[in-house]
Amino acid sequence: MEVHDRLGRPLANLRLSVTDRCNLRCQYCMPERDYVWLPRADILTFEEIETLVDVFTSLGTTKVRLTGGEPLLRKDLPDLLTLLARKPALTDLALTTNGILLADQVVALRAAGLPRITVSLDTLDPDRFKALTRFDSLDAVLTGLDQAANAGFDSVKIDTVVIRGVNDDELVPMLEHGRRVGAEVRFIEYMDVGGATRWSIDDVVSRQDMLQRLATHYGTVTPVDENTAAPADRFTLPDGTVFGIISSTTEPFCRQCDRSRLTADGGWYRCLYATDGTDLREPLRAGVGVEGLRSLIAETWRARDDRGAEDRLSSEDRSRLIPVETLQAQPHLEMHTRGG
Ligand code: SAM
Ligand code: SF4
Ligand code: SF4
Repeated sequence: MEVHDRLGRPLANLRLSVTDRCNLRCQYCMPERDYVWLPRADILTFEEIETLVDVFTSLGTTKVRLTGGEPLLRKDLPDLLTLLARKPALTDLALTTNGILLADQVVALRAAGLPRITVSLDTLDPDRFKALTRFDSLDAVLTGLDQAANAGFDSVKIDTVVIRGVNDDELVPMLEHGRRVGAEVRFIEYMDVGGATRWSIDDVVSRQDMLQRLATHYGTVTPVDENTAAPADRFTLPDGTVFGIISSTTEPFCRQCDRSRLTADGGWYRCLYATDGTDLREPLRAGVGVEGLRSLIAETWRARDDRGAEDRLSSEDRSRLIPVETLQAQPHLEMHTRGG
C-alpha cells in the first residue's frame, strides 16, 4: 500500500539516523561547545530499526539513507546493512558519512551490501578543514574517499556545503577532485536548520551564483533533463562532467519532497524543519505490533502538509532558526540528531 500526504507526496524516502554522536564539530551543524546526547537506553536496536523499516516499506518507502551524527560511529553498522540490503522492497540504500572512519570500514560496508555512499567534504585545504570541523583530519577523509572510490560501489558522491567567505573559492577544485576520484559532487546551499546557530543569509551562496561562477570557469553549464524527486538538480559541464546543486535555501523543492526522518531514538519527523515529531519507540517497545505502527505512520503522513524550507523562504524574519538554549533543551531539533 502506498500512502500520500495532503500535497500528494508519497512516503518514499527515509533518512535513518543511527546515532546522534559525531567525531567532528562542523561550524554549520555542531558549532557549540556542549551538546545534550540522546540517552543510550533510548537508542533503537538493529532489530527495532529493521521492524520499523519493514513497516515503512509496507507503506511505500523504497529508499533508505543511513546517516547520523556520524553513522560510522555506530558499533557493528555493517550488521544493520546486512539486514537492510537483503530487503527487496528497498530499491535504493545509501549512507552519508564524514569519511573519518571510512578507510577502516569501507570493505566491511561494501561486503555487507551497501550499494551507494556519499562522503561529506567541504574543503581540500587542511587548515580550513580544521577551522571548519575543529579536527585536523582532512587526510583521513581523503584516504577514506579514495578507498571508497576503489571499493566497487555503484556510486560514490561528495557533498559540499558552500559557505561564503569560507569555501566558495573551492567550487572548481572540488569538481576537479571529484573527477579525479570518480565521484559526483553535489554542492549544498547553507541551510538555517536547527544546529546552524551561526547561520546568516549573507553566508549563503545561491545556486544561481554557483552556476554563474562555474560557467565563468568552464563555459556552458547544461541542466540534465530528468524528472525526479531527488533534491539535487544536476548539470553537465562541456567535458561531460556531471554535478549537482541542492538549493534548499533559495529554491526549495518541498512540493516534491517525499522524505521523512527517523532519529536514532525512534523519533519520526515529517520535515527537516518540523518542530514536533512522532515517537515510534514508545509504541514499538510497548508492543503495539506492526499493524498499530502502520496505522500510526500512515495517519501521520496523510495529515502532512509541511513545507519547511518554503515557509522559511517566505518568512520575514530570516535569521538563524532556533536559539542555542532551545536546542539544548530539545536536542531532537538539532541537525545532527535528525540526520541532515
Ligand atoms: N555526519 C555525516 C556527514 O557529515 O556526512 C552525516 C550526518 S550530516 C548531518 C548530513 C549532511 O548534512 C552532511 O552532508 C552535512 O554537510 C549536511 N549539513 C549539516 N548542516 C548543514 C547546514 N546547516 N546546511 C546544509 N547542509 C548541512
Ligand atoms: Fe559535521 Fe556531519 Fe558531524 Fe554534523 S553530523 S558535525 S555535518 S560530520
Ligand atoms: Fe522536505 Fe521539509 Fe526539506 Fe521541504 S524543508 S524539502 S518539506 S524536508
